[in-house]
Amino acid sequence: MSVERKQNLATAEFRLFLRDSAGVRVAVLDSSAHTLVWEDDGSRVFPPGSAEGPAAAGSPRPAAAFAVAPHNPGLKSREPRVVKIQLGLGCNMSCEYCSQREIRPDRTDAEKTLEKVRTFLSRIDEWFRGGPAGDGEGTRIELWGGETLIYWKAMSLIGETLRARHPKALIHFFTNGTLLTPGIIDEVERLGMHVTVSHDGPFTARTRGRDVFADPRTAAQVRELFRRLNPGGRISFNATITRESPDLLAIHHHIADALGAPFESVRVTHEIGIPYESDSVALFGDASLAIRTGLVRAAVAGGVHGLLACGLWEHVEEVRGLFGNPVDRNVFGQRCGMDRSDRIAVDLDGNVLTCQITSAESGHRIGAIERLEDVRLTTSRHWSEREECGSCPVLLSCRGGCMFMTGKSWTDSCDQLFDWHLGYLATALYLQTGRVLEKVEGGVIRGKGGDGAIAVEVLRAKDFIDLLAAGSAPQVRS
Ligand code: SF4
Ligand code: SF4
Repeated sequence: MSVERKQNLATAEFRLFLRDSAGVRVAVLDSSAHTLVWEDDGSRVFPPGSAEGPAAAGSPRPAAAFAVAPHNPGLKSREPRVVKIQLGLGCNMSCEYCSQREIRPDRTDAEKTLEKVRTFLSRIDEWFRGGPAGDGEGTRIELWGGETLIYWKAMSLIGETLRARHPKALIHFFTNGTLLTPGIIDEVERLGMHVTVSHDGPFTARTRGRDVFADPRTAAQVRELFRRLNPGGRISFNATITRESPDLLAIHHHIADALGAPFESVRVTHEIGIPYESDSVALFGDASLAIRTGLVRAAVAGGVHGLLACGLWEHVEEVRGLFGNPVDRNVFGQRCGMDRSDRIAVDLDGNVLTCQITSAESGHRIGAIERLEDVRLTTSRHWSEREECGSCPVLLSCRGGCMFMTGKSWTDSCDQLFDWHLGYLATALYLQTGRVLEKVEGGVIRGKGGDGAIAVEVLRAKDFIDLLAAGSAPQVRS
């Protein structure tokens, strides 16, 4: 199987219209090499080396990514670096945007799960050796649900066993936090586990049905977990952005306030809600422009907190890095990384899955752990296999959305990701140039167009006139 399979390398050029109080200046984006230059004098918008990038000066040029597709299936390595263990899909909440809602089991049998874990662990060293030195260094083991803490006994056994065998492995789980107890917190601390608590800030009750901080008993447990793990950098919170929960600043403030901790000391990340159903709360729909405008406005008007909110700064820095240190787009795989051979998702029955949120029942069994050499990732498509991505101005920040989605869910999720990533691009451009990204124009954008230029409105400049006039936005110039 060749890793050099040809990717969709059609070159796409876009004109970015950037306005300030003196008028419009146009920048030209070449999406294949990811260069961005001013149209009037050809100079770089982000000067070379203005931020860390994937091909920072002097670093070796990465190889082309393997372009996974049903006709070019991905393989899985015998030396996985990241192992995602799907414990089961049972959950005690009912989040509006969860992809597992339809396939959630009615009940979970904790004893049966424990039995499966014993069998699973008895054979894990046949395919997971814990990195080059065997001590776990450089490896990551993630535990996934449903709600993971429903399976706490199983998790605790996995944690205990793998910590003893591979002391340097990073062991991480995701939880909604509602089932934490003092005993679990002690164990998590003792086993050196990392935790991410899913939380949508003030919007949580609306999007997830229940806010762990609204109940004094569960709030106290999350605060205690935070108190114990935060000094070691082992806890974070993650928000899902939907049309009902679009405000990063409000989310981050809510979580920090609920923890009684300074804003800057709480690590919050965010991800875009993926619309798996046509009426999904995740869909921005007609609100996309307003949501994007709100994102950029909060980032530039909110000062340091606006940029730190839910880790926005990391995404903005990534955009700066990509433009400041351009590299050919063919080196990029999918953003989630599950197209890579050294990342593997498995369930307790030994099924290898497309990724950790899928299941064998939903058609995502791609092989068996005892026959790793026969595993074939046939369910997924690299971005170069999508008609839209080759002509997308935010390709390198988005990297192709979810690799297994098809049909309307794929189209909806692409729209969603496009809207949000334009927000990152506009924020990075504002901070670099002091100009508002009004629109993007191209011959073809996300596979549409072809008869003359088409344009996408990004921000309404009038929404930013007050900011520009006040000159209050932070400026980051190289
Ligand atoms: S394949 Fe899709 S759902 Fe799975 S981790 Fe990647 S982006 Fe997420
Ligand atoms: S926004 Fe859509 S077209 Fe652009 S990279 Fe993401 S999934 Fe592909």
